Amino acid sequence: MSNVTPEHIGKGTILVNLQRCTGCWTCSLACKVGNCLADDEYRMTVRTEGSGEGIDRPVGTWPDLHMSWTPVWSQNCTKCPERIAAGEEPYCVHSCPSKALSIGEKAEEELDHLKEKGFRVFTLPAWEGSKDGIVYASK
Ligand code: SF4
Ligand code: SF4
Repeated sequence: MSNVTPEHIGKGTILVNLQRCTGCWTCSLACKVGNCLADDEYRMTVRTEGSGEGIDRPVGTWPDLHMSWTPVWSQNCTKCPERIAAGEEPYCVHSCPSKALSIGEKAEEELDHLKEKGFRVFTLPAWEGSKDGIVYASK
């Protein structure tokens, strides 16, 4: 049985487990290919949380280095209503090789599980102007 139902069309919450995100950009590119977007069009991108000196530079000094990533959805994201109507997850969620993304009943179950494990749950601040209904979980 699918974990997305017609009731999730346009309003399914996407849960991002930041502990699992490796910054691979597969989600963003799957959206681009699946939705036939133009070369310069993105509905989501992946932000590197590092030193600010480039996407491949960690923050800190050796050996205490740190690098993490935050997928960010833009207002252009439609949450793939055609996919959800067909019982399929959005391209971005479906394609994540690290299983960092979930939607629908899977997202609800995982959110409860992560809260029990002490994860911090938050959304991006309104001034970011990102898509509504994206919830992040991090340790
Ligand atoms: S959410 Fe998944 S697909 Fe997207 S950058 Fe992170 S690990 Fe890669
Ligand atoms: S939900 Fe659909 S439109 Fe939105 S970023 Fe994911 S694949 Fe793209």
